[in-house]
Amino acid sequence: MGWVRPTGEIHAEGLPDALDELLEGFEETERVKVEGHEQFAIRGVPAGVFVVQEHQATAHHWDFRLEVDGVMKSWAVPKGPTLDPAVKRMAIQVDDHGMAHNDYEGDTVIIWDRGVYEQGGRVAWPEAIERGHAVFVLHGEKLHGGFTLQRTGGNAKKPQWLLIKRKDDEARPGSDITAERPESVVTGRPLAR
Ligand code: MN
Repeated sequence: MGWVRPTGEIHAEGLPDALDELLEGFEETERVKVEGHEQFAIRGVPAGVFVVQEHQATAHHWDFRLEVDGVMKSWAVPKGPTLDPAVKRMAIQVDDHGMAHNDYEGDTVIIWDRGVYEQGGRVAWPEAIERGHAVFVLHGEKLHGGFTLQRTGGNAKKPQWLLIKRKDDEARPGSDITAERPESVVTGRPLAR
């Protein structure tokens, strides 16, 4: 009985998804760049647009939406996205939204961030999302770099995921991007709360 805290170096090569699974059991891992698979994983594949809409509903949340096959796959994130890789943010998958909704702002909604993204990893979309492990790279005005959406449970009606910033050059440990940058990227004004 007990546990082991590994220190030192691990040498592992293989498909990115397999490495992800291997490293998920360890804390404080930092990858070194190597030739081959790792470079492939970083480069990614253009996948479409993303938008994050801050929404003052009964429960305040940020709607995180990724374009997948012509619709916006959507997750409600109660605490919002973060650039701190040590922070895992709960994300409840909600109904797909139409692309036209991406431009919507109103009394209770602002466009908090938007841009384009690349799929990462080796599993093609939408299969990666269906399998519950999606790796992608955001190019927004506030959110940049690699992220993971990992399904952890819930039920068929409301699957529960974690939104996690990956450790890369865009990670900002200890930061709180929703507090630092509360404004709409359209009007420059924060959501009325
Ligand atoms: Mn919402």
